Amino acid sequence: MSDLADKVIITVAPTGAWPSKKDNPNVPLTPSEIAADVIACWKAGASVAHLHMRDDEGLGTMDKVKFKETVERIRDNSDIVLNLTTSGDLNATEETRMAHLIELKPELASFDCGSMNWMHSGLFLNPPKFLEKLATVMKENGVKPEIEVFDAGMLYNALYYLKKGFLEAPLHFQFVLGAAGGTAATVENLVYLKSLLPEGATWSALGIGKGHLPVMLSTIALDGHVRVGMEDNVVYAKGQLAESNSQFVERTVRLVKEANKQNATPEEARQLLGLKAAVNA
Ligand code: ZN
Repeated sequence: MSDLADKVIITVAPTGAWPSKKDNPNVPLTPSEIAADVIACWKAGASVAHLHMRDDEGLGTMDKVKFKETVERIRDNSDIVLNLTTSGDLNATEETRMAHLIELKPELASFDCGSMNWMHSGLFLNPPKFLEKLATVMKENGVKPEIEVFDAGMLYNALYYLKKGFLEAPLHFQFVLGAAGGTAATVENLVYLKSLLPEGATWSALGIGKGHLPVMLSTIALDGHVRVGMEDNVVYAKGQLAESNSQFVERTVRLVKEANKQNATPEEARQLLGLKAAVNA
């Protein structure tokens, strides 16, 4: 078996709930656009894809028909690990935030471990009863939670759920830094959050907007995993919109190699995260 210690999982988050074609005409929105983009990112070295869906007007939706079409297109053409959002629409019900997990059984799904104000759009509600139900549904369907942490309180909430048995070790965290309403995307904040992790946890991080590069570079230095893509950032470099999500993945692969590490394959990502084998392997 290859040595996993120097492997970096690159997650691509191609779409998210917010960016529009006005922000960047290259952001993929339809199932066929998202699937084609994810396949290109997989070929470029991404091992996990974190997916959001959009409705026909381009707004965030938890429509499980769109999830199903996208997931099937990707599973037919790659072995990339799928991570589906559970927070793709502020107007979704608790049921629609989970229905696609029960039907599609992705290997990973986001678990936003606390509530927050989205300063640009409203409340991001993840009350305790919902999180307990979501954790239970994930466990029953073999979906590993990717615990999204926007501030330190959410990490402590995860430790509480670990103690209560709703979450099981080893936990996997995604530090989301620079959201309007969350912790700022600074290296100091990243180091602080990492210091709070329970033993044996795996972790990844992302910076939103211009925090993207500093957080990615410091995460590689701190032996974490990284997430890139237009959900978090539509600008490739100063004054230059990203041409595609794979452009971000390609840069990350280059930086990881320069740091004397390698991007993980999907199978290595599964080993690192303790996931079962791919359903279509
Ligand atoms: Zn997301």
